[in-house]
Amino acid sequence: MPEKILIVEDNPQNMKLLLMTLRPHGYALLEATDGEEALEIATRDKPDLIIMDIQLPKVNGLDVTRKLRHIPAFNHVPIIAITAYAMKGDKEKFIESGCDTYLSKPINTRELPIVIKKMLSGRKEDKA
Ligand code: MN
Repeated sequence: MPEKILIVEDNPQNMKLLLMTLRPHGYALLEATDGEEALEIATRDKPDLIIMDIQLPKVNGLDVTRKLRHIPAFNHVPIIAITAYAMKGDKEKFIESGCDTYLSKPINTRELPIVIKKMLSGRKEDKA
């Protein structure tokens, strides 16, 4: 079974780029375009990792992350925050909200798969 990655991103161009970047790696990719949909899909499909845009319609990415972290099944699911508008102190805010790490936009398409691979393998070691 391929590992499931939920991509939460409301910008169609960014979504396309993320899908194109991750598809060759064989993951099962799930898509959500707003915070409510992200919560629905996450709780229904139990992804192994989540890529979370911070600026989202309805519920922003930090609130989605906080809500997920209150659900026991999501305590250890890696969440990678992505945003174009990181200011000083934002990284700390993302981590406090429950994100494991943070990548700035424009997304570095070479770095992202490496970060994902590392986080997924770290998660397996936790379980062992
Ligand atoms: Mn956005």
